[in-house]
Amino acid sequence: MPARGWIEVNNMYCKGCELCINACPQDVLRLDMESLTPKGFHPAKLYKDGCTGCAICSLVCPDAAITVYREVIKKPAIVTGGA
Ligand code: SF4
Ligand code: SF4
Repeated sequence: MPARGWIEVNNMYCKGCELCINACPQDVLRLDMESLTPKGFHPAKLYKDGCTGCAICSLVCPDAAITVYREVIKKPAIVTGGA
């Protein structure tokens, strides 16, 4: 099962350059045409499932506007016991 991730875009920094959108291998980013940043740009937005948390979008963003989160799946503990 692929890793599951998600991102947050800081609208104070995003300038809608689309570098992250073009770099995302999962094609899960788009500009949000429904909103504007305080500087008047359409910000990038995660618009569907499929983010793996690979962080490529964050690496290419020239304005450090993206924070990436990745789900951590803990392995179940193996419990042994008995007399
Ligand atoms: S690369 Fe950064 S500044 Fe450009 S659209 Fe993506 S989040 Fe916004
Ligand atoms: S972390 Fe990876 S998969 Fe998720 S939006 Fe960014 S580039 Fe795409």
